[in-house]
Formats: sequence, C-alpha cells, structure tokens
Amino acid sequence: MGQQTVKGIGASAGIAIGKAFVLPAWEWDIPEKNIDVTELAGEFERLYQGIRRSRDEIEGMKREMSGIIGEENSFIFDAHLAILDDPEFVREVQDIIRRQYKAAEVAVKEVIDQFVSMFDMIDDEYMKERSADIRDVGNRLLHHLLGTPAITLPSDNQPFILVTKEISPSQLANLNPERVLGVVTMIGGRNSHAAIMARSMGIPLVISLEDQLIAPIQTGEELIVDGDRGLVIIRPDDAVRHQYEQRRRLQQEHRRKLHENRFAPSVTKDGVPLTLLANISSQKELDAAMEDGAEGVGLFRTEFLYMDRDAFPDEEEQFAVYREAAEKLGEKPLAIRTLDIGGDKVLDYCPFPEEENPYLGYRAIRFSLDRRDVFKTQIRAILRAGLHGNVKLLLPMISSMEEWWAAMDVLREAERELAEAGIPYRSGMDVGVMIEVPAAVLIAGELAKEAAFFSIGTNDLIQYVLAVDRMNDHIAHLYDPFHPAVLRMIKMAVDAAKKNGIGVSVCGEMAGDPEAAALLVGLGITHLSMSARSLLVVKDRLSRLESGECAKLAKRLMKCKTGKEAADLNHRFLEAAIERGSPV
Ligand code: PEP
Ligand code: MG
Repeated sequence: MGQQTVKGIGASAGIAIGKAFVLPAWEWDIPEKNIDVTELAGEFERLYQGIRRSRDEIEGMKREMSGIIGEENSFIFDAHLAILDDPEFVREVQDIIRRQYKAAEVAVKEVIDQFVSMFDMIDDEYMKERSADIRDVGNRLLHHLLGTPAITLPSDNQPFILVTKEISPSQLANLNPERVLGVVTMIGGRNSHAAIMARSMGIPLVISLEDQLIAPIQTGEELIVDGDRGLVIIRPDDAVRHQYEQRRRLQQEHRRKLHENRFAPSVTKDGVPLTLLANISSQKELDAAMEDGAEGVGLFRTEFLYMDRDAFPDEEEQFAVYREAAEKLGEKPLAIRTLDIGGDKVLDYCPFPEEENPYLGYRAIRFSLDRRDVFKTQIRAILRAGLHGNVKLLLPMISSMEEWWAAMDVLREAERELAEAGIPYRSGMDVGVMIEVPAAVLIAGELAKEAAFFSIGTNDLIQYVLAVDRMNDHIAHLYDPFHPAVLRMIKMAVDAAKKNGIGVSVCGEMAGDPEAAALLVGLGITHLSMSARSLLVVKDRLSRLESGECAKLAKRLMKCKTGKEAADLNHRFLEAAIERGSPV
C-alpha cells in the first residue's frame, strides 16, 4: 500500500518522523477466578500491596516528571493518587472479593469497568478525561496484580512514534522523551492533561484521528506526525519524507538562530516598537520566558497557586510568590490576574455549585465578588508586592460596570486596611480589565474611562462570542479566531482603549499564534502576551512585516464575510510577505 495522509487535530506542535509502535488498547482478558474462604485475608493483602505499589510508582513519577513538566502540571498525578485513595473504589473492590469470592484482579476489573462506563455516559469532556484517568490507574493496578509490565516498549532501544487509542498522562510520563518522537491518538482533547504534558515535553501530538484509518497501522510502519498541521502521513513516499526532513531541519536550525537574537528589541520591519510579554502561571515559566527574552509578563494566571492543595493560600504565601516574580522582572511589567477559578478549574477544598454550564456560571470575578474574604486577601498580597517591581492588577471576566465598581470597592478597602495596619503597599496601582466577555466589549467605552488598561482574552472572547465551548473537541472546527464577529469585537475593544488613551494588549492564544499576530498588530495592538514557547517565533515573524502592510491586511480581513475567507487571505498575505523577505 502506498502513502496515505490522515487529518486530525494538532495538539502539540512539531514534526516527528519514524517508525510506529502500536500500543495495544485497554483490553484485558481476565479469566473468572474464584478464591476459597480461607484465601480471603491473603487476597485482601494482595490487593493492598498492588495499591501500595501503584501509589509508590505514581509518586515516583510525579517527583521525576515535575522537573520536566513543571510542578504546576504534576497535579495530573494527584488525580491518579486520589482514585487509589478513594474509599468508595476500595470498598467496592473489597465487597466483590468478600461477597462473591472473586480474585482481586477480577474484582478490580469489574469496578474499573463500572466507573468508566458511568463517567463515559456523562456527555462532558472533563468527565471523559476523568474516565481516562480511572482506566489508567486501573491498568497500573492490574499489571501489579497480574505481575505484567505496565507498557512493553520495543526492545531495540530505537526511538519510535507511539500509536494508541488514547494516551494517559502516566503513560506519557513513563516514556523517555528521547525515545518517543511523536504520539498519535484516536481520541483525546486538546486541553486534556496528556496534551498539556506533550506540549511541555515538546513531543508532537496529533489527536482525534479516525479509527478506521489509524487502526490498521502496524508496528514498524513508517509515519510522519505533523503536529503543526494536525496530519499523520502513513508510509510516506521518498519525496514527502525528504520534504519533511528538510522542514524539520529548518525548524531546528531556525529556532537556534532565533534564540541567539532573543534579547534584541522587538520591532516591525519598519521599526515600530512592539512589546512581547509572557503568560505565566509559575516561577518556572517566568524563568523560561525571561530566558527567551520576554519583555515582561502580560498575564500571571494565579489560579495555579490555589490548586492542588487543601486550603486557600494566605496573604503571606501569595505575597512571597508575587514579590519574587516582581523582583525578578525589575522594571519590566508584571500583570497579576486575580483568581480565575470556575469553568474547568475548581478547588477541592471549596464547594462549588453543581452547574449545567460552568463556563457561564460561578467563575472568575463572580466568585471573587462572592468570596470577598478570598478576593481581599489576594488584592492585599498584590498591593504589597507592588512595592517590589512594576506590578499591575488585572481583573478577569468583567461584564458590567457594577462588577468593576464592586472590585474597586474591595481594592479600596484593602488599601485602607493596609494603611491602618501600617503595612507598606503600592498605592494607585494600575488596574486593568480582561476583555473576554462580549458585554465588556460593548461597554468598553465606559470601562476605558475608569480602567488603566485592557487585556483582551481571546480564548474566552471567542468561546463567548461564538457560543463554542473551548474544551469541546466535537465543535472545535467552529472555534474560529478569524470569524468576522471575533475580529470586530477585538477592533471595538482596541478602538475604545485608544479613544480613551489607555493601553491595550492581547493575552489569549491568538497573540502567540504567528498566523494571527500580524493581524493584531494591524489592528493597532503593540503589546502581545503569549506562552514562553511562542515568543521567539512571533518576534521573528513580526520583524519581517511592515506595520503599514499589517494595517492594510487588518482592513482587508475586517471586510471578509467568513472566517475561512479571512484565514485564507491572511495565510496568503503572510506567505507572500515572507517570500519577499528572507526565507524562514
Ligand atoms: C483568555 O481567555 O484569553 C485568557 C487569556 O484567559 P484564560 O485562557 O486563562 O481563560
Ligand atoms: Mg479567560
């Protein structure tokens, strides 16, 4: 059979070329096995030993992987530990052993299957990911009970491309990134824990590929994984392989060159200064961003400070974190966003209501204004950190003036308390608003008269403008940054900011997307905030474009009737502009 190209979704960028290793699916054929009443105690001990070993393994992986994926991402393993510690899970297994005299592995398999089908029935991406976690833990436990190794990797020590129905975080963690060139899965979400990890590990990943096309792949067959375009090429012919090898070489070479240039100022080809900032959620990400020449932090997502623990962080703890970041950055700006919890991010230690539509629910500023104690503690810590650098405060998900005023009341109260207690803090700190709800765009004129700056959060703005859940892969094709409604919303927010003389930046994924950054510059945005991994590429791309060309491009895109028309036109423009300049 000849070459075949299959389209999926690119969940982690980059190109991998190599031989497939097909991981057998989660199919356990566990024969029914009963035990004798005299064996009960021994069987329980076998179960507990399996759980202990699984736990030790997961804890070991968590320690090892936190160096690679960052501590903020190692919460993934806590989800697995929580399943092993779940009294309901253990009780159900014990019950089957005790009442039906079944062997431990048979009981575990039954309970895992039951949990999995229960979670699978819930039509919710988050729950489906939890079901993958349960299968993953079940897998590990069964391997211990049966005495078989967890993943049997090819024994020849050669690097490979992993092909599997789905990949779990712990499977990924078990794999040596040097040996795994890329990963291809049939199911999975772009925002799944595994996808987050693949991106942090720099492993190209393509997900959501059709079963019929992927299932026939045999171990040893040659594959190309194109994580940039979401393609998998099976049995590539020589010409295609050659093209991809060249592209990969150029990418590597290109990145090396860009890195040399990391501290040069960011400017367009005609010398218009730009400010490229980083989105961070931890000190580790801040270090990586500074290493790649970030000119400040446009978005510090503080929610990760609140997750993976059993109580809210107190003022001192937060102050220490914010202060360290402010001091590292010195004069460079640090926009600290107040807690954006809710949606897909909940806190184990704080009860959240059952919600039909969590993204439209108890989230971000709505939570903060409801829990003013929590909000005020955070604001006090930020105000205090303000004395140690160029700190700004950013409010997420504002959709009305009342919310803005209420937040400012809490801020004034925090200032008053600090002053009365004689605790030093920065007074008159710049407070900005995230523009990520359509209502905020429509009242941007009013907001801009009171806020110090806008930061446009396109991730949420797109989901709310288009009514497309950003976590839902079934409708991922509708999540369109180039949709005319999105472009108009961005332009309205920028115009309102300019008219009122306040700063405006973009901190959603669009800012770090080299395909979209020129358009944003063309709309008059000079401050772009993105993940550290995008800084070098975006800086390079914008240095090849004239600001006037970008403005013309934006004008033309604003006139397009559909997102596709705009995206195509944008792509053609960039290709032509880059061809005119030196090749990438
Ligand atoms: C956004 O919505 O664009 C944004 C930057 O915030 P988050 O992705 O954290 O919701
Ligand atoms: Mg947001």
